[in-house]
Amino acid sequence: MNGESAAIISPMRWLIALLTLAACERNGKSVDTLDPEPGIALTLAAERVQAIENLRYELSFSIPGATSEPVSGRAVVRFALKDTSRPVVLDFTPGADSPVSLSVGGRPSRFRAVKDHIIIPKEDLSSGENTVEIVFRAGDAPLNRNPDFMYTLFVPARAHLAFPCFDQPDLKARYTLELTIPADWQSVANGTETSREASGNRVRIQYAETQPIPAYLFAFAAGKFQLETAERNGRIYRLFHRETDAKKVARNRDVVFDLHASSLEWLEKYTVIPYPFGKFDFVAIPSFQFGGMEHPGAIFYNASSILLDESATENQMLNRASTIAHETSHMWFGDLVTMRWFNDVWMKEVFANFMAAKIVNPAFPKVNHDLRFLVAHYPAAYAVDRTAGTHPIRQELANLDEAGSLYGAIIYEKAPIVMRQLERILGPDRLRDGLRAYLTQFKFGNATWLDLVRVLDDLTPLDLTAWSRAWVEEAGRPSVRTEVEGPRIAFVQTDPRWTQHIQVLAGTARGLRSIAVDLRNQRTELQTDPPVFVLPTGGGLAYGDFTLDDATRSYLLRHLAELKDPVTRGAAWVTLWEELLDQRVRPSDFFDLALRALPHEDTEQNVQLVLGYVDDAFWRFIRGDARQSLAPKLEETLRSGLDHASSSSLKSTYFSAFRSVVTTPDGVAFLERVWGRQEKIPGLTLAEPDEATIALELAVRSVPAASRILEEQRERFMNPDRKARFEFVTPALSDRQDTRDAWFASLADVKNRRREPWVLEGLRYLNHPLRAPQSDKYLRPALDLLGEIQRTGDIFFPTNWMNATLGGHNTRPAANAVRAFLAQQKDYPIRLRRTILQAADELFRAAEIVSGPNS
Ligand SMILES: [Zn+2]
Repeated sequence: MNGESAAIISPMRWLIALLTLAACERNGKSVDTLDPEPGIALTLAAERVQAIENLRYELSFSIPGATSEPVSGRAVVRFALKDTSRPVVLDFTPGADSPVSLSVGGRPSRFRAVKDHIIIPKEDLSSGENTVEIVFRAGDAPLNRNPDFMYTLFVPARAHLAFPCFDQPDLKARYTLELTIPADWQSVANGTETSREASGNRVRIQYAETQPIPAYLFAFAAGKFQLETAERNGRIYRLFHRETDAKKVARNRDVVFDLHASSLEWLEKYTVIPYPFGKFDFVAIPSFQFGGMEHPGAIFYNASSILLDESATENQMLNRASTIAHETSHMWFGDLVTMRWFNDVWMKEVFANFMAAKIVNPAFPKVNHDLRFLVAHYPAAYAVDRTAGTHPIRQELANLDEAGSLYGAIIYEKAPIVMRQLERILGPDRLRDGLRAYLTQFKFGNATWLDLVRVLDDLTPLDLTAWSRAWVEEAGRPSVRTEVEGPRIAFVQTDPRWTQHIQVLAGTARGLRSIAVDLRNQRTELQTDPPVFVLPTGGGLAYGDFTLDDATRSYLLRHLAELKDPVTRGAAWVTLWEELLDQRVRPSDFFDLALRALPHEDTEQNVQLVLGYVDDAFWRFIRGDARQSLAPKLEETLRSGLDHASSSSLKSTYFSAFRSVVTTPDGVAFLERVWGRQEKIPGLTLAEPDEATIALELAVRSVPAASRILEEQRERFMNPDRKARFEFVTPALSDRQDTRDAWFASLADVKNRRREPWVLEGLRYLNHPLRAPQSDKYLRPALDLLGEIQRTGDIFFPTNWMNATLGGHNTRPAANAVRAFLAQQKDYPIRLRRTILQAADELFRAAEIVSGPNS
């Protein structure tokens, strides 16, 4: 198969090859004598998009029922070649020992298979139309094969793990598909079914050619599925599912069809572009990896995110409506117009969320959507953006095999904030008009963020390109300081390139004033009645590192709870927390305020926000001796909140907080009685996972009965998965240091890290603040493992691993261990370095505050 073997290359040729490689890397060009690098490199993608057009795939897969038997496939790839000076490189990483045969124009090719690619020599190709035919065995990795069903999931660049293709988003292609499956299976794909032919216990199904779509959106599912069909406004919608509870299906089906139909109609009106992909099917998949995936014509959902239980809360219904509107929005934003490269993946996600909020929020009038937006986005975005490990929304991405590392709080939490600013700059109507122009100009094609900025820039006198450079292409956030002198208020910004439109709240003798302010200069001044306090974040819009004036700071530390508007209170909490981290508010003052404010806080989202801060302040920013004197008042406040909470979800919020911070003998004894079922909490039902968590919290507090409690809890489990998880975690909580050491040492073996949530739970208890003095010694080996964690784990595992390791520590020696590691690792991968700096930020700050005079 391979025309040239490495064994016959002389050492000298090796050296020359290496030197050439180094030289051409410097020039940023590749030379066709070299094999393409593994993964899908931007350089390869850029060459191919210049050389290849009119791409079409005819794919057939034969899928056996038994997962032990391989899926065989055949691909006919047709394209026009504009540049015949180079070989054509297809992407393909099948399973082990996959036989491949390949012909071009009907003649066998002298192709070479290298890591992740098939190279077709230029001699086999002709300028103009080419037809490449490949017979192969499909790789199973992205096929999600289960005993009774399978489904593909090719995002971000996993199609080539199953079949040979050009696995880059800007080589859109028309796909024709043929599936041969067991006769008692159903199947669904992007295109419409056109024919079906049974033969014995197998059936062959043909699907019509799709519109041009990228490889990551090509999809099919097959297996034992049930089918529900409905018509809405003349369009047929089909739901494929495996739910056995007929009542559950009956309860959900109409609302799920309605939500799709209303989302689709809203989007057709907003974009003035009819739904572009013909038929509309969706599949409810058990334990699907995401909430949903926007394959055109065949959206895949996690079954549990669209088929709700009877007990579903309003919040769950809001989330379902949002998920459906999100995926439907992608049909235009992402599917019709696709990012050119995955560095712009944030765009499609932000637009899908943005549209979903517009579609769904009006149907849930009881929810305070502005507060929901604030609480969901600002604290999480700041948690990364304030750190030395932050990065721009738009990042460089040299190879798609690193695409997973793009995902994180900056994309999910900061980008929506920036998008909301963009709407305020342009106004909703002009933004809509700009988006219409953009979708029309690039439909069935690709565009970058900068293409969109160019379209929108024509609609505003503001320099949108400069705005985008600061907010999207640069890391970090603006620093803004308030200065008050009599009736004059000034906002002083260190770097005025970060322009933003904010809503300032000023408390004056004549009442509250909400003032719109454009921050676009180093100094922005306004006049008002002499203010008692000035909160630049008060309207819930402003993003940045805000330094309050002294009068406002001390006003808020006394009167925050008296602010009427829940959004303003939420914004004030977020702002004071940032001031605490910057050492302008003492943790004990913040803590006092929180305990005074909680009994008056009637908005559940704010209670959750404040309790999260209280937990963090208590364990991280208050010294052990001071904790002891604060604990009785803290526990009394939480118990009182638990007693007076008006809803079961609020009760459970208070109980979780209590369970996490309890330290007094009385409090721990109460928790022990609750676990022992001797004491009930009215209005709160504790399920198996709740009791398990109580048992672990008691154990980490080294109560005398700890080992008996753990043993009894183990026996209480009815659910075998939860029992296995508990057994995995408990050694990390042992009273014996050698047992804890052995548990941690076992994580060096990848086999013991497969169940990532289990590992993280154990790691958090191992490094619990109460155990932190004995856990400093795990920091270095945990850091040493990070590189391997990234290679072997899921995309979020490195960040979660670091957070679980560092989250309980707050001392200078712990901070220094992290700094020493970073100082020694000179050539450490930049993305991992950022991961560490993000996770260590609070540790660094806490170590200064707790060791300093200011605690
Ligand atoms: Zn999405």
